[in-house]
Amino acid sequence: MNHERHNKATEAIFYSPYTEVHEWLDETYGKWKKRGFPYNHWLLRHYKEAIDKKYEAPRIRAVAYFHVVSDIAGRFEEIFLPENEEELRLFLKQKENEGKLKGFDGELF
Ligand SMILES: [Zn+2]
Repeated sequence: MNHERHNKATEAIFYSPYTEVHEWLDETYGKWKKRGFPYNHWLLRHYKEAIDKKYEAPRIRAVAYFHVVSDIAGRFEEIFLPENEEELRLFLKQKENEGKLKGFDGELF
């Protein structure tokens, strides 16, 4: 989901767009897009463990969880909030095997 939509959806629910939270989550998107694997950026921050490490406030954590659930629902029409990188990696590999995902190779470096 693009930032405009993330901001709009977040404002509708949390009464503020929390733009900086979305920017933090998607910070490496441009780099991975350039390399041809845009979904690799999800592996860095799009799961609970990374979010909980960065943010302590329950409200901010909820905003970030909402971002991740929105991204996954928007891409796969499925509600899923991964606990950690491994769980997300397995999910994305499965989608790739099912032919539902391109632009992911799982190699971060
Ligand atoms: Zn995102």
